[in-house]
Amino acid sequence: EVARALAQDSSPGALADGNPLALLANVGTPGAAAHAAGQSVEGVGLLRTEALFLGRATPPSHAEQAAAYAAVLTSFGERKVVIRTLDAGADKPLAFAAMPAEENPALGVRAYRLVRTRPSLLDTQLGAIADAAAMTGRMPWVMAPMIATPAEARDFARRARSHGLPTVGVMVEVPAAALRADAILAEVDFVSIGVDDLAQYTMAADRLRDELADLVDPFWPPVLDLVAATAAAGERCGKPVGVCGESASDPVMAVVLAGLGVTSLSMGPTAVPAVRYALSRHTEQEVRDVADAARSADGAPQARAAALAAMSPDV
Ligand code: PEP
Ligand code: MG
Repeated sequence: EVARALAQDSSPGALADGNPLALLANVGTPGAAAHAAGQSVEGVGLLRTEALFLGRATPPSHAEQAAAYAAVLTSFGERKVVIRTLDAGADKPLAFAAMPAEENPALGVRAYRLVRTRPSLLDTQLGAIADAAAMTGRMPWVMAPMIATPAEARDFARRARSHGLPTVGVMVEVPAAALRADAILAEVDFVSIGVDDLAQYTMAADRLRDELADLVDPFWPPVLDLVAATAAAGERCGKPVGVCGESASDPVMAVVLAGLGVTSLSMGPTAVPAVRYALSRHTEQEVRDVADAARSADGAPQARAAALAAMSPDV
Protein backbone atom coordinates (compact mmCIF):
# COMPACT_ATOMS: atom_id res chain seq x y z
CA GLU A 1 0.00 0.00 0.00
CA VAL A 2 2.85 2.33 0.86
CA ALA A 3 4.50 1.34 -2.43
CA ARG A 4 1.31 2.11 -4.34
CA ALA A 5 0.96 5.50 -2.65
CA LEU A 6 4.59 6.30 -3.53
CA ALA A 7 4.14 5.20 -7.13
CA GLN A 8 1.14 7.53 -7.49
CA ASP A 9 3.01 10.54 -6.15
CA SER A 10 3.79 12.54 -9.27
CA SER A 11 5.13 15.66 -7.58
CA PRO A 12 8.43 17.02 -8.93
CA GLY A 13 11.56 15.80 -7.17
CA ALA A 14 12.56 18.00 -4.22
CA LEU A 15 14.41 17.90 -0.93
CA ALA A 16 12.58 18.24 2.39
CA ASP A 17 13.19 22.00 2.41
CA GLY A 18 11.82 22.40 -1.10
CA ASN A 19 15.00 22.62 -3.18
CA PRO A 20 14.07 21.05 -6.54
CA LEU A 21 15.97 18.12 -8.04
CA ALA A 22 14.36 16.96 -11.30
CA LEU A 23 13.68 13.22 -11.62
CA LEU A 24 13.92 11.98 -15.20
CA ALA A 25 13.81 8.67 -17.07
CA ASN A 26 16.47 6.75 -18.99
CA VAL A 27 14.88 5.14 -22.08
CA GLY A 28 16.20 3.37 -25.15
CA THR A 29 13.28 3.01 -27.60
CA PRO A 30 10.08 4.88 -28.56
CA GLY A 31 8.09 2.06 -26.94
CA ALA A 32 9.95 2.41 -23.65
CA ALA A 33 9.48 6.16 -23.85
CA ALA A 34 5.72 5.81 -24.34
CA HIS A 35 5.58 3.59 -21.27
CA ALA A 36 7.79 5.91 -19.21
CA ALA A 37 5.63 8.90 -20.19
CA GLY A 38 2.77 7.29 -18.25
CA GLN A 39 4.84 7.20 -15.09
CA SER A 40 5.60 9.98 -12.66
CA VAL A 41 8.75 11.35 -14.29
CA GLU A 42 9.56 14.92 -15.25
CA GLY A 43 10.88 13.97 -18.67
CA VAL A 44 13.64 11.97 -20.34
CA GLY A 45 17.13 12.66 -19.02
CA LEU A 46 18.77 10.12 -21.33
CA LEU A 47 17.35 8.85 -24.60
CA ARG A 48 19.85 6.21 -25.71
CA THR A 49 19.79 6.00 -29.51
CA GLU A 50 21.93 2.88 -30.04
CA ALA A 51 18.95 0.55 -30.62
CA LEU A 52 18.28 2.27 -33.97
CA PHE A 53 21.80 1.53 -35.21
CA LEU A 54 22.87 -1.86 -33.89
CA GLY A 55 22.59 -5.18 -35.68
CA ARG A 56 21.79 -3.87 -39.14
CA ALA A 57 23.55 -3.93 -42.50
CA THR A 58 22.85 -0.28 -43.37
CA PRO A 59 22.57 2.78 -41.14
CA PRO A 60 19.05 4.04 -40.34
CA SER A 61 17.95 6.73 -42.79
CA HIS A 62 17.42 10.34 -41.83
CA ALA A 63 13.64 9.78 -42.13
CA GLU A 64 13.62 6.63 -40.02
CA GLN A 65 15.57 8.37 -37.28
CA ALA A 66 13.41 11.51 -37.40
CA ALA A 67 10.27 9.38 -36.99
CA ALA A 68 11.72 7.59 -33.95
CA TYR A 69 12.82 10.81 -32.24
CA ALA A 70 9.49 12.49 -33.06
CA ALA A 71 7.62 9.60 -31.42
CA VAL A 72 9.53 10.15 -28.18
CA LEU A 73 8.98 13.93 -28.29
CA THR A 74 5.25 13.39 -28.88
CA SER A 75 5.00 10.94 -25.95
CA PHE A 76 6.53 13.50 -23.59
CA GLY A 77 4.64 16.59 -24.83
CA GLU A 78 5.71 19.61 -22.82
CA ARG A 79 8.20 17.67 -20.70
CA LYS A 80 11.96 17.84 -21.22
CA VAL A 81 13.65 15.24 -23.47
CA VAL A 82 17.45 14.89 -23.67
CA ILE A 83 18.58 12.94 -26.74
CA ARG A 84 22.06 11.42 -26.63
CA THR A 85 23.83 10.96 -29.94
CA LEU A 86 25.11 7.54 -30.89
CA ASP A 87 27.20 5.78 -28.23
CA ALA A 88 28.43 2.88 -30.39
CA GLY A 89 31.80 1.20 -30.47
CA ALA A 90 33.47 -0.83 -27.74
CA ASP A 91 30.87 -3.41 -26.67
CA LYS A 92 28.35 -2.00 -29.20
CA PRO A 93 29.94 -2.44 -32.68
CA LEU A 94 28.14 -1.15 -35.77
CA ALA A 95 27.61 -4.00 -38.22
CA PHE A 96 27.34 -1.61 -41.19
CA ALA A 97 30.49 0.37 -40.42
CA ALA A 98 33.11 -2.41 -40.62
CA MET A 99 34.79 -1.15 -37.49
CA PRO A 100 38.28 -2.56 -36.96
CA ALA A 101 38.77 -4.83 -33.95
CA GLU A 102 40.48 -2.88 -31.18
CA GLU A 103 42.84 -4.11 -28.46
CA ASN A 104 41.21 -1.80 -25.90
CA PRO A 105 37.72 -1.03 -27.18
CA ALA A 106 36.64 0.93 -24.09
CA LEU A 107 39.55 3.27 -24.81
CA GLY A 108 39.05 3.25 -28.56
CA VAL A 109 37.13 4.94 -31.35
CA ARG A 110 33.73 4.85 -29.67
CA ALA A 111 30.86 7.22 -28.91
CA TYR A 112 31.56 10.86 -29.92
CA ARG A 113 34.97 9.76 -31.20
CA LEU A 114 33.31 8.08 -34.21
CA VAL A 115 33.22 11.61 -35.66
CA ARG A 116 36.91 11.05 -36.50
CA THR A 117 36.14 8.19 -38.88
CA ARG A 118 32.42 8.57 -39.75
CA PRO A 119 31.42 12.24 -39.31
CA SER A 120 28.35 11.81 -41.51
CA LEU A 121 26.79 9.52 -38.87
CA LEU A 122 26.71 12.38 -36.35
CA ASP A 123 25.60 15.03 -38.81
CA THR A 124 22.79 12.86 -40.17
CA GLN A 125 21.65 12.13 -36.63
CA LEU A 126 21.65 15.81 -35.62
CA GLY A 127 19.73 16.67 -38.78
CA ALA A 128 17.15 13.99 -37.99
CA ILE A 129 16.77 15.33 -34.43
CA ALA A 130 16.20 18.84 -35.83
CA ASP A 131 13.57 17.46 -38.23
CA ALA A 132 11.83 15.65 -35.37
CA ALA A 133 11.70 18.97 -33.51
CA ALA A 134 10.17 20.68 -36.56
CA MET A 135 7.64 17.84 -37.04
CA THR A 136 6.45 17.93 -33.43
CA GLY A 137 6.99 21.52 -32.35
CA ARG A 138 8.96 20.21 -29.33
CA MET A 139 12.63 21.10 -28.98
CA PRO A 140 14.79 18.42 -27.33
CA TRP A 141 18.12 18.99 -25.62
CA VAL A 142 20.98 17.07 -27.29
CA MET A 143 24.18 15.71 -25.80
CA ALA A 144 27.24 13.76 -26.89
CA PRO A 145 28.65 10.73 -25.04
CA MET A 146 32.23 10.29 -23.83
CA ILE A 147 33.66 13.76 -24.30
CA ALA A 148 37.25 14.15 -23.03
CA THR A 149 38.32 17.67 -24.05
CA PRO A 150 36.92 21.20 -24.36
CA ALA A 151 37.72 21.12 -28.09
CA GLU A 152 35.48 18.05 -28.51
CA ALA A 153 32.69 19.81 -26.61
CA ARG A 154 33.14 22.89 -28.82
CA ASP A 155 33.01 20.80 -32.00
CA PHE A 156 29.86 18.98 -30.89
CA ALA A 157 28.17 22.24 -29.90
CA ARG A 158 29.05 23.82 -33.25
CA ARG A 159 27.60 20.87 -35.17
CA ALA A 160 24.42 20.75 -33.09
CA ARG A 161 23.81 24.49 -33.27
CA SER A 162 24.43 24.49 -37.03
CA HIS A 163 21.39 22.19 -37.27
CA GLY A 164 19.33 24.71 -35.28
CA LEU A 165 19.44 22.76 -32.02
CA PRO A 166 19.76 25.47 -29.34
CA THR A 167 20.36 23.52 -26.11
CA VAL A 168 23.54 21.48 -26.30
CA GLY A 169 25.38 19.47 -23.68
CA VAL A 170 27.95 16.74 -23.26
CA MET A 171 28.34 13.78 -20.97
CA VAL A 172 31.05 13.77 -18.34
CA GLU A 173 32.20 10.14 -18.26
CA VAL A 174 35.97 10.61 -18.52
CA PRO A 175 38.03 11.90 -15.56
CA ALA A 176 39.75 14.44 -17.84
CA ALA A 177 36.39 16.11 -18.47
CA ALA A 178 35.43 16.11 -14.78
CA LEU A 179 38.78 17.61 -13.76
CA ARG A 180 38.38 20.42 -16.31
CA ALA A 181 34.60 20.76 -16.05
CA ASP A 182 34.79 24.58 -16.04
CA ALA A 183 36.39 24.56 -19.49
CA ILE A 184 33.93 21.94 -20.78
CA LEU A 185 30.94 23.90 -19.43
CA ALA A 186 32.21 27.08 -21.08
CA GLU A 187 31.46 25.40 -24.44
CA VAL A 188 27.97 24.02 -23.75
CA ASP A 189 24.67 24.72 -21.97
CA PHE A 190 24.67 21.74 -19.60
CA VAL A 191 26.49 18.52 -18.74
CA SER A 192 25.20 15.11 -17.68
CA ILE A 193 27.48 12.81 -15.71
CA GLY A 194 27.48 9.18 -16.87
CA VAL A 195 28.45 7.95 -13.47
CA ASP A 196 28.88 4.31 -14.52
CA ASP A 197 31.40 5.05 -17.25
CA LEU A 198 32.99 7.65 -14.97
CA ALA A 199 33.55 4.87 -12.42
CA GLN A 200 34.95 2.55 -15.11
CA TYR A 201 37.45 5.16 -16.32
CA THR A 202 38.38 6.48 -12.87
CA MET A 203 39.07 3.01 -11.47
CA ALA A 204 40.51 1.70 -14.79
CA ALA A 205 38.25 -1.34 -14.51
CA ASP A 206 36.14 -2.76 -17.35
CA ARG A 207 32.38 -2.41 -16.66
CA LEU A 208 31.78 -5.71 -18.45
CA ARG A 209 34.08 -7.88 -16.30
CA ASP A 210 32.22 -9.52 -13.43
CA GLU A 211 35.53 -10.19 -11.66
CA LEU A 212 36.04 -6.42 -11.35
CA ALA A 213 32.51 -5.46 -10.29
CA ASP A 214 33.73 -4.28 -6.88
CA LEU A 215 35.98 -1.72 -8.60
CA VAL A 216 33.34 -0.45 -11.02
CA ASP A 217 31.24 1.01 -8.23
CA PRO A 218 30.39 4.72 -8.28
CA PHE A 219 30.53 4.75 -4.48
CA TRP A 220 34.33 4.79 -4.72
CA PRO A 221 35.21 8.11 -3.05
CA PRO A 222 37.49 9.20 -5.94
CA VAL A 223 34.47 8.88 -8.24
CA LEU A 224 32.37 10.93 -5.80
CA ASP A 225 35.16 13.54 -5.76
CA LEU A 226 34.92 13.90 -9.55
CA VAL A 227 31.13 14.23 -9.38
CA ALA A 228 31.56 16.94 -6.72
CA ALA A 229 34.14 18.79 -8.85
CA THR A 230 31.80 18.74 -11.85
CA ALA A 231 28.80 19.91 -9.81
CA ALA A 232 30.88 22.73 -8.29
CA ALA A 233 31.88 23.88 -11.78
CA GLY A 234 28.18 23.94 -12.73
CA GLU A 235 27.36 26.03 -9.66
CA ARG A 236 30.12 28.51 -10.54
CA CYS A 237 28.76 29.14 -14.04
CA GLY A 238 25.06 28.60 -13.27
CA LYS A 239 24.59 25.69 -15.70
CA PRO A 240 22.79 22.39 -14.98
CA VAL A 241 24.82 19.32 -14.02
CA GLY A 242 22.74 16.14 -14.05
CA VAL A 243 23.57 12.50 -13.51
CA CYS A 244 22.19 9.85 -15.87
CA GLY A 245 23.93 6.60 -14.90
CA GLU A 246 21.73 3.66 -13.90
CA SER A 247 23.44 3.81 -10.49
CA ALA A 248 21.34 6.91 -9.66
CA SER A 249 18.44 4.48 -9.17
CA ASP A 250 19.84 3.46 -5.75
CA PRO A 251 18.10 5.82 -3.26
CA VAL A 252 21.28 5.95 -1.14
CA MET A 253 23.35 6.97 -4.17
CA ALA A 254 20.63 9.45 -5.18
CA VAL A 255 20.87 11.19 -1.79
CA VAL A 256 24.68 11.25 -2.04
CA LEU A 257 24.51 12.73 -5.57
CA ALA A 258 22.08 15.39 -4.35
CA GLY A 259 24.53 16.21 -1.57
CA LEU A 260 27.38 16.50 -4.08
CA GLY A 261 25.41 19.27 -5.79
CA VAL A 262 23.92 17.80 -8.96
CA THR A 263 20.71 19.40 -10.26
CA SER A 264 18.85 16.41 -11.78
CA LEU A 265 18.87 12.62 -11.72
CA SER A 266 17.90 10.33 -14.60
CA MET A 267 17.33 6.60 -14.10
CA GLY A 268 15.19 3.64 -15.09
CA PRO A 269 11.66 5.00 -14.57
CA THR A 270 10.57 2.31 -12.11
CA ALA A 271 13.23 3.54 -9.65
CA VAL A 272 11.86 7.09 -9.50
CA PRO A 273 9.23 6.69 -6.71
CA ALA A 274 11.74 5.33 -4.16
CA VAL A 275 14.29 8.01 -5.08
CA ARG A 276 11.63 10.75 -4.85
CA TYR A 277 10.72 9.56 -1.38
CA ALA A 278 14.34 9.32 -0.16
CA LEU A 279 15.09 12.87 -1.37
CA SER A 280 11.91 14.24 0.20
CA ARG A 281 13.06 12.98 3.62
CA HIS A 282 16.27 15.04 3.67
CA THR A 283 17.09 18.74 3.77
CA GLU A 284 19.87 20.37 1.78
CA GLN A 285 22.13 20.33 4.86
CA GLU A 286 21.33 16.65 5.49
CA VAL A 287 22.12 15.51 1.93
CA ARG A 288 25.43 17.40 2.15
CA ASP A 289 26.24 15.64 5.42
CA VAL A 290 25.39 12.27 3.81
CA ALA A 291 27.68 13.04 0.86
CA ASP A 292 30.49 14.15 3.19
CA ALA A 293 30.15 10.90 5.14
CA ALA A 294 30.46 8.89 1.91
CA ARG A 295 33.47 10.87 0.65
CA SER A 296 35.27 10.39 3.98
CA ALA A 297 35.21 6.58 3.67
CA ASP A 298 38.15 4.70 2.20
CA GLY A 299 36.28 2.28 -0.05
CA ALA A 300 33.03 1.88 -1.96
CA PRO A 301 31.13 -0.46 0.42
CA GLN A 302 32.27 1.67 3.37
CA ALA A 303 31.08 4.81 1.59
CA ARG A 304 27.63 3.34 0.99
CA ALA A 305 27.41 2.13 4.60
CA ALA A 306 28.49 5.54 5.91
CA ALA A 307 25.94 7.30 3.72
CA LEU A 308 23.16 4.95 4.83
CA ALA A 309 24.08 5.44 8.49
CA ALA A 310 23.88 9.23 8.03
CA MET A 311 20.44 9.06 6.35
CA SER A 312 17.01 9.39 7.88
CA PRO A 313 16.09 5.96 9.36
CA ASP A 314 12.69 5.65 7.63
CA VAL A 315 14.07 5.64 4.07
C1 PEP B 1 26.86 5.95 -17.95
O1 PEP B 1 27.94 5.58 -18.42
O2 PEP B 1 26.66 6.10 -16.73
C2 PEP B 1 25.75 6.24 -18.88
C3 PEP B 1 24.65 6.86 -18.49
O3 PEP B 1 25.87 5.82 -20.17
P1 PEP B 1 25.64 4.28 -20.60
O4 PEP B 1 25.15 3.55 -19.38
O5 PEP B 1 24.65 4.30 -21.71
O6 PEP B 1 27.03 3.91 -21.02
MG1 MG C 1 28.18 5.82 -20.61
